[in-house]
Amino acid sequence: MQEIADRLKRVEDNIASACERASRAVEDITMIVVTKTASIESIKEVIRQGYTHLGENRLQHLKQVAKEVAEFLEAGADDPSLVDSVDWHMIGHLQRNKVRSVLKTTSFVHSVDTLRLAEEISETGEKLNITPNVLLQVNCSEEPQKYGVPVGAAIHLAEQITTMNNIRLVGLMTMAPLTLNKDIVRSCFVRGREIFEEIKDEGHVDKEFKHLSMGMSQDYKIAIEEGATILRIGSAIFTDNKITRRI
Ligand SMILES: *Cc1c(COP(=O)(O)O)cnc(C)c1O
Repeated sequence: MQEIADRLKRVEDNIASACERASRAVEDITMIVVTKTASIESIKEVIRQGYTHLGENRLQHLKQVAKEVAEFLEAGADDPSLVDSVDWHMIGHLQRNKVRSVLKTTSFVHSVDTLRLAEEISETGEKLNITPNVLLQVNCSEEPQKYGVPVGAAIHLAEQITTMNNIRLVGLMTMAPLTLNKDIVRSCFVRGREIFEEIKDEGHVDKEFKHLSMGMSQDYKIAIEEGATILRIGSAIFTDNKITRRI
């Protein structure tokens, strides 16, 4: 489990350097630890290290892991060094018929990209008597196979979401393309940042709209330089391999 602590330290060091380059404060960055490839023992170690924001992209796995983590925290309730609870983030594509189940487990949904999904979340929120926190997923790379609202429709969808009762729009999420070309990655994040700012200016959102979720293991340093406030990092923490291969 020492490797987990070492890799967390390395990521934290990289975050600090990127913040310094960008004249930003490390406190303004939240790291979500993406657990989709991790063993439960590794996840427990991350929690012991004090991390409380965890992310999953598939509902089945989310439910299973969230249950095991809850049991772990329950068993350690008397341990003052252990946190009381964690926040789960749904970061993957979400089908409307899964909304109820996801809302019961998560604190944030990062993948809202259609009007109908937003409506379903608001209606379900009303039934459950909650106001779920959501981020608008924007397809900044404009790859046809990617999820996310198209760039040109993002501001309008944000506006529509703000008119709904039981849904709270707290930010924007985007993913860079699967490429090692840093210029392409950077321009995608720049665009994400621009749309984020435009929504702030024109989207009828309030001050709760403040999160810019972008940056994964391969590109989080660039994301910090371009204004990310939330990073979603998995393999840099859980995978031994220094060179993570992307499909
Ligand atoms: C898997 C995943 C991540 C984390 O990716 P890594 O490359 O393992 O850091 C971040 N965001 C989303 C949406 C993911 O599915």
